[in-house]
Amino acid sequence: MFDSQKRHNIAILGSTGSIGCSTLEVIEALGKPYKVWAISAHQQVALFEQQIARHSPVHAVLTGNSEESSASGNQHTACTQRHFGNEGLLKLASSPEVDIVVAAIVGSAGLESALEAVRHGKTLALANKEALIVAGPVLMDIAKSSGARLMPIDSEHSAIFQSMQSGRSINEVKRVILTASGGSLRDWPKERLSEATIQDALAHPTWSMGRKITIDSATMMNKALEVIEAKWLFGLDPSKISVVIHPQSMIHSMVEFVDGSVIAQLSPPDMRLPIQYALTFPDRLPGPARTVDWTQSFSMDWMPVDLERYPALQLGFEVAQAGGTSGSVLNGANEAAVELFLSQKIGFTEIATLTKKVLDYHDFDPSPTLKQLMSLDQWARQELKRVAGC
Ligand code: NAD
Ligand code: MG
Repeated sequence: MFDSQKRHNIAILGSTGSIGCSTLEVIEALGKPYKVWAISAHQQVALFEQQIARHSPVHAVLTGNSEESSASGNQHTACTQRHFGNEGLLKLASSPEVDIVVAAIVGSAGLESALEAVRHGKTLALANKEALIVAGPVLMDIAKSSGARLMPIDSEHSAIFQSMQSGRSINEVKRVILTASGGSLRDWPKERLSEATIQDALAHPTWSMGRKITIDSATMMNKALEVIEAKWLFGLDPSKISVVIHPQSMIHSMVEFVDGSVIAQLSPPDMRLPIQYALTFPDRLPGPARTVDWTQSFSMDWMPVDLERYPALQLGFEVAQAGGTSGSVLNGANEAAVELFLSQKIGFTEIATLTKKVLDYHDFDPSPTLKQLMSLDQWARQELKRVAGC
């Protein structure tokens, strides 16, 4: 039963991003007892200051270039304590005052703070899938011993989590089916993909998101990362994970149980719903997310994925199977490749081919330490730049 007396102090790491801004909207709409306790941003200082003025967090951390900051604040923001750099971020993630940490930093830059929150037994509302890709086994192990709860924000994993509630054990699950929009270039002829520009790749048909994940959606590296994310979050053998293209992004994923029943979660493409569920679980509360208009006719389509068109997805299945160091290398190489594409140094199709190259020749270790995984992340970035000739 919903307990309106229980406090929910929330730290949003990456508050100025697409997920961060949606999280602030959700918390504002939920009202008490949900409280924006702390926020962090890397750049976008003006937006950060507006967020501080509007939400009056107790703490605010700027991790990027602090020279831009109006650190002293003004009369509307004077009650907020300011912190800087990575240390400030780790302090927030582990603060005894914080109940829920929303991991909304993009890329493996969010790993350390996510780990810190899990070490301190927080509820980790996880958007930052890259943290799990780099260090899935370590993060899940720490969560087991600290008692931290991981709540997925990624819409597919939220849908799987919600659908799983209708079964009693993982043994009843025959498979999970992740849905994918197919990204911005879904309807392009395969042979023209190499010509795709940044603008073409950023024009996502159904979701409005940060730049990195939008490019990942176009290559379907995003779905590759989500296959690996599903493996770690739900303890699934990769052979039980499949992907289908569903252009309307209305069904966010499904669970097929051993008796043949398929349970799906359906709602318009709006991240505020999975964010809210991660914050309010096990309660369901009214919120700001868009709802289905059942007075309108609409139809839903499904199609199999062409792995030749989306070679990045194939890498995701291979990495999910191999485990060990491969997740860290896949992620680091892909992050570097996306940066190079966004600075017009490589073409669109090279993102997957160069990432595969780095993955194929790395020195595989089936049971690496966290330190190893973090240094491989850096190695993969450098190698990617080297094979790209940059
Ligand atoms: P974004 O680029 O819009 O925002 C990223 C946030 O991280 C910003 O607040 C930025 O200041 C901060 N940040 C960037 N670099 C940083 C660094 N080095 N150190 C500390 N902070 C840093 O990204 P987004 O689209 O909101 O995505 C955030 C995460 O959520 C990603 O891991 C993404 O895969 C995941 N996700 C996003 C969506 C979506 O709809 N946007 C959906 C599912 C999952
Ligand atoms: Mg997703």
